Amino acid sequence: MSFKLPELPYGLNELEPSISQKTLEFHHGKHHQAYVNNLNKLTEGTRFENASLEEIIKEADGGIFNNAAQVWNHTFYFEAFSPSGGGEPEGELADAINRDFGSFEKFMEEFSKAGATLFGSGWVWLVKDSRGGLDIVQESNAGNPLRKGLTPIMTMDVWEHAYYLDYQNRKPDHIKALWDILDWQKIGSRY
Ligand code: MN
Repeated sequence: MSFKLPELPYGLNELEPSISQKTLEFHHGKHHQAYVNNLNKLTEGTRFENASLEEIIKEADGGIFNNAAQVWNHTFYFEAFSPSGGGEPEGELADAINRDFGSFEKFMEEFSKAGATLFGSGWVWLVKDSRGGLDIVQESNAGNPLRKGLTPIMTMDVWEHAYYLDYQNRKPDHIKALWDILDWQKIGSRY
């Protein structure tokens, strides 16, 4: 089995102005693709050749872990956007956010702060524990909460390559703009 780059569920210009076509061309077409290519090269002839990404993320280390996690993380990140996104979650996820963060506004504030203050490259995650409790976690580099037995619900990529073409050093402005394109139906289905 070889790993493949998933197609985006929207057109390259459809997330503008939150994410420009140029950023998506590089972020999906070059960066995400490179992680797929590297993973295929690194796993060839190893016990991970026919493994799922989740298995690799839980078991591998070094380059194989880094590239598998980056493939999974980017797919999960890109899947959660929609040109008609924004607004707020509904149903069980909305109830859990209100219970664990006080309100959606408080959650947005805490999540955005966790993204803005993450030092260096990484990902900020909303995760669910085995009892349904929600938490916000920061992970460096390719870090993925599956490795700690947590269930990822949503993520933001805070590597510079995610925003530098559009926002340069204004990482908080980039994070703010992503709330306008989040697909809460998709995200809610993961809870
Ligand atoms: Mn990225």
